[in-house]
Amino acid sequence: MNAKPATVEEPIAAIATAPGAAGISIIRLSGAGSLAIGDQLVEARFKPSARSAGTFYHAVLYHPQTRERLDDALLLVFRAPHSYTGEEALELQCHGGRLPARRVLAAAVAAGARLARPGEFTERAFLNGRLDLTQAEAISAFISAETERQAVVARSQLDGALGTRINGLYEQAVHLSAEVEHALDFEEGELPESFPARVKHDILALAKLVHALVASWRQNGHLLGDGARVVISGAPNVGKSSLLNALLGRNRAIVNARPGTTRDAIEEGYVLNGIPIRLVDTAGLRETADEIERDGIERTKQLMAEADLNLMLVDLTSLLPAAPLPEVPPRTLLVLTKLDLAPGARADALCVSSKTGEGLNELGEAILKFLGETAEAGGASEIVSARQAAELQAAAEHLEAACALRDWVLLANELRAAAECLGRIIGRVYTRDLLDSIFSHFCVGK
Ligand code: GDP
Repeated sequence: MNAKPATVEEPIAAIATAPGAAGISIIRLSGAGSLAIGDQLVEARFKPSARSAGTFYHAVLYHPQTRERLDDALLLVFRAPHSYTGEEALELQCHGGRLPARRVLAAAVAAGARLARPGEFTERAFLNGRLDLTQAEAISAFISAETERQAVVARSQLDGALGTRINGLYEQAVHLSAEVEHALDFEEGELPESFPARVKHDILALAKLVHALVASWRQNGHLLGDGARVVISGAPNVGKSSLLNALLGRNRAIVNARPGTTRDAIEEGYVLNGIPIRLVDTAGLRETADEIERDGIERTKQLMAEADLNLMLVDLTSLLPAAPLPEVPPRTLLVLTKLDLAPGARADALCVSSKTGEGLNELGEAILKFLGETAEAGGASEIVSARQAAELQAAAEHLEAACALRDWVLLANELRAAAECLGRIIGRVYTRDLLDSIFSHFCVGK
């Protein structure tokens, strides 16, 4: 289905502010008839339908049937298409708190509004062409941002730069696909000799642009969005739980002098220089006959394989001063623990003490460096959602497949598939399921 601006008429209503005691609560109405609903809640001389767009005024709100006086409120009038949703809309600012707002919402429903679904206002904004899907996703990411960096990236995506860029790629893919389809109508020899080489050159150039975006996501985007998974592993008693606690600055994992206490993995989140980190403390790695512990070790190995970064811990006191350091697998930092018990740090490895805190800042810096970040650099990725990254990846694969094909019919199919992936990112191509999966994560009232 293509995103042709749809007219969504039915007025919907929701409380747009968070529940609980607060200065004000905002009840939002959108859709044709919203102002007429407002008319039923006020005295005749205060009817919002008689006010011009942008008016902000005070009136007492009544229940439409019982005429019970509910609250007094400020009313803000919007007329289509100049509103968030692009529709006629009304905002009622009443006293804060759960009940005043709920009573006003119930009155709006009694006057003919339907309760809005999560994200329905933003979905209508999308359907009315007010924003593309990358902007809609950015709104959700901005509202739920937990770190300064997530907020900055989401806010800049909200301005639409990514959408514009992807739209450009989408149009190139559509253009190429149309060109190839058009060429199918010609007989062999009727096309310019240079046509195949030129088309493949263009497809390859497009694939490169798409790849560059995917790469920036791999490097930074998913770290900002989902957080980096940093897995702490090592032999029992090397100080894994102690390091997790020291990094978190509070006691979460059980620290015990008996080996093999942390049988199941413990995951905790914290923020390192604006990057959310998911720190995973694992079962100790050692040969064991205990079945539960063995399961834990298998799970550890799996966690290590999936980690963005592994911290491999070795007890510094168990190493002879000049002993060679163990080799570490890729994506792994070797961390020597219990520095306070050792005669001194080793120059050739990161040494930390969870007890005194020595070396923990350096460890933090090393983690950031490893994750492709420096203390000052902003996130280079413009992509904030895994959905966008997956569609880009798929588009790149279709483009590459197209390049390898000799059959023009198959090649055209691949190009069309690539264009659809790009189109879905911005919503030039969408299905009901796609919209549901995006907007169901929104809060009600947004
Ligand atoms: P895990 O089995 O690897 O999770 O190890 P724990 O964190 O449970 O620690 C095992 C023992 O080593 C406990 O008695 C801790 O108090 C001790 N320990 C851990 N880190 C340090 C450290 O940096 N300095 C000192 N002195 N003891 C530590």
